[in-house]
Amino acid sequence: MGTRKKVHAFVRVKPTDDFAHEMIKYGDDNKSIDIHIKKDLQKGVVNNKQTDWSFKLDGVLHNASQDLVYETVAKDVVAQALDGYNGTIMCYGQTGAGKTYTMTGTTENYKHRGILPRALQQVFRMIEERPTHAITVRVSYLEIYNESLFDLLSTLPCVGPSVTPMTIVENPQGVFIKGLSVHLTSQEEDAFSLLFEGETNRIIASHTMNKNSSRSHCIFTIYVEAHSRTLSDEKYITSKINLVDLAGSERLKKSGSEGRVLKEATYINKSLSFLEQAIIALGDQKRDHIPFRQCKLTHALKDSLGGNCNMVLLTNIYGEASQLEETLSSLRFASRMKLVTTEPAINEKYDAERMVKNLEKELALLKQELAIHDSLANRTLVNYDPMDEIQIAEINSQVRRYLEGTLDEIDIINLRQIQEVFNQFRVVLSQQEQEVELTLRRKYTLIDKNDFAAISAVQKAGLMDVDGHLVGEPDGQGFGLGVTPFSAKPGKKAKSKKMFKEQLSTSARKEGASSPVGGKDLDFSTSKTQLTPSSKEGDVKDMLMRDRETSSIEPLPLDSPKEELRPPRPSTPPPKPVAFEDFKNERGSEINRIFKENKSILNERRKRASETTQRINAIKREMDMTKEALNFQKSLREKQGKYENKGLMIIDEEEFLLILKLKDLKKQYRTEYQDLRDLKAEIQYCQHLVDQCRHRLLMEFDIWYNESFFIPEDIQVSLKPGSSIRPGMVPISRIVSLVSGMRAGVGTADEHKVVGSTSCSLSSPQTWQCIGCSQPLPRLAEANGQVQVSSLLWRMGTQKTSLAAATFLGWLILPRWQLQGVWQIQGRGF
Ligand code: ADP
Ligand code: MG
Repeated sequence: MGTRKKVHAFVRVKPTDDFAHEMIKYGDDNKSIDIHIKKDLQKGVVNNKQTDWSFKLDGVLHNASQDLVYETVAKDVVAQALDGYNGTIMCYGQTGAGKTYTMTGTTENYKHRGILPRALQQVFRMIEERPTHAITVRVSYLEIYNESLFDLLSTLPCVGPSVTPMTIVENPQGVFIKGLSVHLTSQEEDAFSLLFEGETNRIIASHTMNKNSSRSHCIFTIYVEAHSRTLSDEKYITSKINLVDLAGSERLKKSGSEGRVLKEATYINKSLSFLEQAIIALGDQKRDHIPFRQCKLTHALKDSLGGNCNMVLLTNIYGEASQLEETLSSLRFASRMKLVTTEPAINEKYDAERMVKNLEKELALLKQELAIHDSLANRTLVNYDPMDEIQIAEINSQVRRYLEGTLDEIDIINLRQIQEVFNQFRVVLSQQEQEVELTLRRKYTLIDKNDFAAISAVQKAGLMDVDGHLVGEPDGQGFGLGVTPFSAKPGKKAKSKKMFKEQLSTSARKEGASSPVGGKDLDFSTSKTQLTPSSKEGDVKDMLMRDRETSSIEPLPLDSPKEELRPPRPSTPPPKPVAFEDFKNERGSEINRIFKENKSILNERRKRASETTQRINAIKREMDMTKEALNFQKSLREKQGKYENKGLMIIDEEEFLLILKLKDLKKQYRTEYQDLRDLKAEIQYCQHLVDQCRHRLLMEFDIWYNESFFIPEDIQVSLKPGSSIRPGMVPISRIVSLVSGMRAGVGTADEHKVVGSTSCSLSSPQTWQCIGCSQPLPRLAEANGQVQVSSLLWRMGTQKTSLAAATFLGWLILPRWQLQGVWQIQGRGF
């Protein structure tokens, strides 16, 4: 963005022999005009008080040649247009004062040509000077006559007949005239011929003061678009130069117009007055709304008045005393225009096609670069393309397996894959949360804390005491209304974790073992649990099978006798090392057993390997000794001379036995060595299994620890055993936040299922339905003061839940008061 710039305002005085020297005076710097009106002359003409006016302008052009006018007024604006700045040059003034002369000039005399042909000339000259750019020039010529738009170039053969009238359209790029023909001109001559075509088409109205004066506003626009010839440059600039020849600004009464001309004059006056209003508004910094749309002229010039363009106003005035009143009015307009500021800015655009091509090129280059890096880093070919559905599904499955513990780690391939892994973690987590929430909703009812009617109904039904505690739960450990049900706040959890770490490190130091969490050498020998005897002789495959089974070990059902026998939950969780011992005896006993089994197999293999090594060494030693003895025998034989029989060597028995022994030892050595190799492989495999088991044990322990000491028991009951959800796997803070929203205070587990809705109202026995879900509740009847409900179903979310659940097969019998309290039963029969 450029800096703010004032509109340039010039005045051109039409040469005359009858110049009012006494009334019109130019300043020495040619930048001001002083007007003086003699008292007697001004009587009743302008006003009674003021006789002198002084107007400060950017230049006063008197007796100025067309050349000088162009140099002063237009040259810079046109030059800047080629750099991407919009420009507007406007001629204002009363009819006959020289607007058209200034703008178009005379056609018969080349020297007297106006701004239009000179601007076109300058544009084409400058294009020639810029071979580095491909610059296109287009022109249009619009006339606004009696508030109607006319295309002055519509007579050209290339322009088809217009079907709909032209309209002014605004879009983010600016204002344009829909239906106005815009003509590409590749050379100066073409542009000139278009200009002459337009000139001859101008509507000329007869007028008393100047027969040939135009009664319309004409806007000649030159559109410039400059692209760099360097193909890599995707930026390009656009600009437009508006050259505006306004209709005469004189007042009606002077023109003596009538009929059609009167109508013209009315429109002209109106549009000029709107132009003035818009300009006054533009000059006022506090105004945020500029009334551009009041007439076609200001609307068409919306982005050419003020805004981001270079703007010049040239006011044409007469020099005669008789026109002084209009001259004053024109000068006032000019001085107002001078107050307007604009903020010229380059219209820079991006060539989408070139941009895409350049980006494609860069992408290809970067891919090559990446391939080089991959090969230097010895990485196999990596695909960096976006992932398809199958690949994403594969990642989802990897994440699930990883969370389950059946996959040790997810290999990192590239950034895209890492992002997708994280994404899938989020997907899995949110699915689990949804599942948890659904299950909880099935179990509990949401009662608004502020819904006192519902609360009192529940209390009246005797299902909850005034403190919000559940009936039958003396310790108040349940979901009481407004009561934070357990002490598992995140802060506390963090604290207990810290505590655990501290305790762990001290206990580890005492026992001389490292931390059980993540520690590779987790020492289970201190465990109170009895070691299970190791499995039978070294069948690695057998072990693998068993390990696979461990992967699918499900946690013990929560309602298993073991869980039921567990003492009530302590108010503060025990330290983790202590809890870990308990875990190994309870929920983790099976995994712990397998872990120990694996470990003992590992130890046994290690022992065997060590024994084999010892044996190998012994064999090796014996071999060496045998070799030595043989050598000795040989040297002895050589000393005694050779025994040969038909080319065959004859050796004594001792030597022969030694050779046999060596052969035997060699055989033994090979066998033992092979055994050792096999054992080493087995050890490696067993080690892997032990590590996996350890990992699983610790993971299960964490889940168990959360479930045992942090997640409320009734939530665990609701997350039915056997379902895929393990409450301990969901972050505790999430569960807590979910549950803290649940406010229910109704009865025991079985009663929950039955009366767990407060928002249902039964309108009549035949057509009862749940208000919340509009599900009909079929077959309700009353017998002996009890309501019998059969297959009472409702729908919550997508989950179809039987209120009676498995506990109430067939008919459900409820005390009537219980239903009244919760269901608000109305209608016949009750
Ligand atoms: P407008 O367009 O403002 O109504 P014109 O440009 O048509 O007025 O001028 C009216 C007449 O005066 C024309 O014949 C024009 O040639 C002549 N004229 C205007 N200004 C000048 C000037 N500066 N020098 C010579 N002739 C001029
Ligand atoms: Mg004119």
